[in-house]
Amino acid sequence: MTDGRRPLTNEALFARAVDVIPGGVNSPVRAFGAVGGTPYFVARAKGAHVWDVEGHRYIDMVQSYGAVIAGHAHPKIVEAVRQAAGDGTSYGAPTEREVLLAEEIRARVPSCEKVRMVSSGTEATMSALRLARGFTGRDRVVKFAGNYHGHSDALLADSGSAVAHIAAGAAGVPGSAGVPKSAVAETIVAPFNVVPVLDDRVACVIVEPVAANMGLVAPVEGFLAGLRRECDRVGALLVLDEVITGFRIGRGGAQERFGVRPDLTCFGKVVGGGLNVGAFGGRGEIMDRLAPAGPVYQAGTLSGNPLATAAGLAALSLLDDDAYVTLRDRAAWLARHLQDAINAGGLTVRCTVAGSLVGLYFGDREPQDYDDARRAEESTYAAFFHAMLDRGVALAPGPYEILFPGLAHDDPVMSQIVDAAADAAATVARAAGLAPAQPSPAGS
Ligand code: PMP
Repeated sequence: MTDGRRPLTNEALFARAVDVIPGGVNSPVRAFGAVGGTPYFVARAKGAHVWDVEGHRYIDMVQSYGAVIAGHAHPKIVEAVRQAAGDGTSYGAPTEREVLLAEEIRARVPSCEKVRMVSSGTEATMSALRLARGFTGRDRVVKFAGNYHGHSDALLADSGSAVAHIAAGAAGVPGSAGVPKSAVAETIVAPFNVVPVLDDRVACVIVEPVAANMGLVAPVEGFLAGLRRECDRVGALLVLDEVITGFRIGRGGAQERFGVRPDLTCFGKVVGGGLNVGAFGGRGEIMDRLAPAGPVYQAGTLSGNPLATAAGLAALSLLDDDAYVTLRDRAAWLARHLQDAINAGGLTVRCTVAGSLVGLYFGDREPQDYDDARRAEESTYAAFFHAMLDRGVALAPGPYEILFPGLAHDDPVMSQIVDAAADAAATVARAAGLAPAQPSPAGS
């Protein structure tokens, strides 16, 4: 692509972007703040690959932070969006596809007896919170340190993802400038993987069932079941934030995998097929408190948008049982081989895996909570990130993000990732004066 006279470069585009967009990006983690350097500007993408404006091709492990699961520009999704667009992009009146998508969500996730579509994960969690408060008549919410639930005021406290780099946060302490203390006065932050003792002031507990914004931290045995029990004991609602895990770690998401039935569930990403979507659903008697059926107000001009519902339905139609087996096998293979390759190169890494999600943690023991996760060697991640980018593999530019192997990451692509990782790790280790790991003696 050109500006009419000379070819575009990432450098030049970023300079222009910074001049007109705060920090040069429309979402903070894209700015490379955590890893240094200039972001690549994507010109196009197909399957497992993205191309930047300079023509470099990368194997893409970001996949729109999980919104893309079937690979970029999947023909079935592209065709669904094209057809929908030809019939009009937004009406302000209900459509059949909204009903079909809600039915599809309920069929996969039976705890969602009723569903409301919104336009982002942030909207889904924010609205679920209001609904939980409206339903219970209580104000207090409990969240877990290192979980990220989008950027609404009440939920930013002690969040993972890119928030980790701007604020410490804590119970009742705003996670960002501009959030009034009063907005988080009723937000309690608890350590992940420990069941907190609740009381009858708590409206809801919101949790990422598999934490995917502090690297990847799986729930320990009994954590989710314990949350369910403790919520029931005090009459609080259990809200699962399945914005990342939903329709990704299995057909019915984390709740199916771990056998826990929440009162409300939040979705985003996969359910929009790469378009702007969020959704939340749950028990009918709770969902019917939403306007216009009930007194809890929630609305959206573009909610249930025709393009987004078309893309979401097309994406879900690709996700049958075989697809989930493929996704799980790929993630398990990738985690095992990445860990071996990087360790052999001389860096100490733990690759965590849950369903089709993979975490990369530079440290010597598997993290169980945010304190552990923050012991990761951020500078090693940054060096490894750049070494991988130099070798044509794009990881997320932040140490608390994860890898999203998808249906387009076939065997050759996966092998290329592991080969690049072995080489990148050796280069980073050498630069840091670390010796490569000795090969194990034969037969051991
Ligand atoms: N919840 C979780 C678990 C997320 O990972 C995210 C985004 N990464 C959100 C909510 C917010 O979603 P969105 O960025 O679409 O607002």
